[in-house]
Amino acid sequence: TTTRGLRLRERPDDLLSPHHIETVAITLPRHPQLLLRPRYISVDPYMRTRMHPMGYDYIERWEKGSQLSGWTLAEVMQSQVAGFAPGNFVVGHLPMQESVASSAKEMIKIPAAHMPLSYLHPLGMTGFTAWVGMELIGAPTPQDTVLVNAAAGAVGSLAAQLAKRRGARVIVTAGRADKREWLYQQGFEEVLDHRHPDYAKHLDKAAPSGISLHFENVGGTALQAAIETMRQGGRIVLCGLVSQYQSAQPRQGPRNMATLVAKNVAIIPFVVPHYLEHWCNFQRFMAPLVAKNQLSWRLDEITGGIDSIATALIGVLNGDNLGKRVVKMNEL
Ligand code: NDP
Repeated sequence: TTTRGLRLRERPDDLLSPHHIETVAITLPRHPQLLLRPRYISVDPYMRTRMHPMGYDYIERWEKGSQLSGWTLAEVMQSQVAGFAPGNFVVGHLPMQESVASSAKEMIKIPAAHMPLSYLHPLGMTGFTAWVGMELIGAPTPQDTVLVNAAAGAVGSLAAQLAKRRGARVIVTAGRADKREWLYQQGFEEVLDHRHPDYAKHLDKAAPSGISLHFENVGGTALQAAIETMRQGGRIVLCGLVSQYQSAQPRQGPRNMATLVAKNVAIIPFVVPHYLEHWCNFQRFMAPLVAKNQLSWRLDEITGGIDSIATALIGVLNGDNLGKRVVKMNEL
């Protein structure tokens, strides 16, 4: 039998467009260990970096003809593996296909009591990213003034809440009015627009004694403004630079590097694949918060199945999403 899957038709030079991605027929093996039916597929900014010839080294780059893949919540349809039964939900990094033949290796089985979709957000990679960056690396105290940009997005929204739970004063940013409204509703009092031409001035005003810990998701002018507002001896946890991912030279740094020297500010970059030994600690920390509803997390769900993935990803790179963007697969 065959199924439909996504491939990179050609590498984008700058802006990703739907024609860069194609749907192809994929033959499934006859007797897979697990036959999975993806229910939700995560679309994430890093996927664009995989299409760049100078993309990150920690993850395989996508060339012309590469099969696309991503974090997927899937239902077990057939199983030859003990412990995995039809109807179970699993999460894992899977090829973007309507049906997937998989081994049980590297599949996380979701405990029956847990909400499956939480494994694509607070209990999955975006939650892990926020936790590594804010709890493990940043670890702010009530003496800190923390800035989190793109805080209505998946990672940023969780990182900002974790900083608040630790008692820090937290300034958040989002690039659209309804996103800022959502942040106000969650009790963040200082909500700025990192896309505003006067953002640097607004930030300076919001943090008269400077930012001591900054969680960077955006890059470009947003990062430059943050650098100018850093306190002496402050720290920048560098999570991502989404505003740069579509440019031909994604590795350009901020123009005001000298300010980092003058202010003795450390930049601490991280990527989660290097922190997987902390996964169980993360689950122990985060699962009770999710179970007790102590974190607010929102899914930005796009319908339309595999045919919607390209436009859903392009949307994330433009900032269309409020919360964690996932694509709901069609019933077959
Ligand atoms: P988000 O849900 O935050 O979506 C991306 C958001 O970035 C958009 O909603 C938009 O918010 C903002 N944005 C997009 N384009 C631009 C632009 N050109 N200029 C300014 N802002 C823009 O995605 P994630 O939570 O998945 O990722 C957030 C960051 O975390 C990314 O940089 C990503 O690469 C990084 N990341 C890092 C990991 C690691 O291991 N270090 C792992 C996972 C993610 P707005 O409308 O508010 O501008």
